[in-house]
Amino acid sequence: MSLPKRVSSSKQNALCPCESGKPYANCCEPYHLGLAAPNAKTLMRSRYTAFVLGLEAYLLATWHPNTRPAKLNLAEEPPTKWLGLQIKRAENTSETTAIVEFIARYKIAGKATRLHETSLFERIDGRWYYLTGDFRD
Ligand SMILES: [Zn+2]
Repeated sequence: MSLPKRVSSSKQNALCPCESGKPYANCCEPYHLGLAAPNAKTLMRSRYTAFVLGLEAYLLATWHPNTRPAKLNLAEEPPTKWLGLQIKRAENTSETTAIVEFIARYKIAGKATRLHETSLFERIDGRWYYLTGDFRD
C-alpha cells in the first residue's frame, strides 16, 4: 500500500480539525498514514478530518467494500467549509460492528448546515470500515 504524502508541517502542528484538542500529528495523521484505527470512534474522527483535508484516498480506503463509491470528487463539489465535529455517542454493537452518532457542521455557499448522522461501522481483519449512515435531518 502506498502511503499518502504528509501534509504541510503547519497543518501537522495545528490542532486537529476533528476538535480533539490535540495537534493533527498526534491525532488523526497516524491513521491517514496507514495505522489501523483502534475503534470506530477514532475512525470516524479521522474520516471527518480527511473530509476537511480532502484526503479522498483515505476516505475510500476506510469505506466498507460493500458500500464504497467508485471514486470521490471532493474538489469538484461546491466548496465545503467544515466547521466542527461533535461525537454524541459511540458504542460497539458486537465484536465486529459499532455505531457512532455525531453532528458535523459545515457551510456551503455561505449557508451553514448541520449533519446529524448515526453511522454504522464494521471491522474486517482488524480494521474498521465505514458501512453506512442513517441521516437524520
Ligand atoms: Zn483528529
